[in-house]
Amino acid sequence: MTRIPTAFLSHGAPTLALDATSGADFARWGATLPSPRAVLVVSAHWQRAPATIGTATQRELLYDFHGFPPELYRMRYDAPAAAQLADELQQRIPGIARDDRRPWDHGVWVPLLHVFPQADVPVLQLSLPSAGPAADLLELGRRLAPLRDEGVLLLGSGGAVHNLGGLDWRGTAPPPAWATEFEAWLRERVAARAFDDLADWRALAPGAALAHPTPEHYLPLLVVAGAAIDDPDPPRFPIEGFEFGSLSRLAIEFGA
Ligand code: ZN
Repeated sequence: MTRIPTAFLSHGAPTLALDATSGADFARWGATLPSPRAVLVVSAHWQRAPATIGTATQRELLYDFHGFPPELYRMRYDAPAAAQLADELQQRIPGIARDDRRPWDHGVWVPLLHVFPQADVPVLQLSLPSAGPAADLLELGRRLAPLRDEGVLLLGSGGAVHNLGGLDWRGTAPPPAWATEFEAWLRERVAARAFDDLADWRALAPGAALAHPTPEHYLPLLVVAGAAIDDPDPPRFPIEGFEFGSLSRLAIEFGA
């Protein structure tokens, strides 16, 4: 079976669900992927330790955002839940937990609306165990890596630069220097496959405190990087640019 790439997606604002232009970039990338048998998503919007498997039976969505257009709260994403993958994860990863009542949050369903618009790829969410050392997230990714040889697409869903207080919602301002400098560092360290530096980002990256006042939108990248540690191929950036001023749209893909 083909090894499936793994990727970190910047899911932007929830309005991505309604945005055909931005969504087309996700769809174009999704069309390049070998057909996965399931997609496993680690989203910024579910932080829980130990790593916990979300619902494997329901298709409920969480509308975990406020103040957006009403049609956003009626959106559906009726992909099947990846129940078999949930069982496999439980057998493979020591100490993993399950929460069958946890629906998919918008970090899961908003990008998938565009990446797999047919909603035909079974979905599972794994929580982001963000409370421990960053190196533990690389290690979690290492443990998940073999799934890529078994037809599973591992996605980290967050944001390469994510400071909600620093956004320009009219979208007319160019990205500020702290945002472009942080993202440039990130791209350079990813391209160099300097994964230990990625884990030590708080100390090493310029503008880290402004680019991520809280770390949860950055950290899914470490799980993805851990799952790519043995990949020889250079990473790719299939989606680029900024929106709302400082909000990065960067997607990072590892693997052939
Ligand atoms: Zn988010």
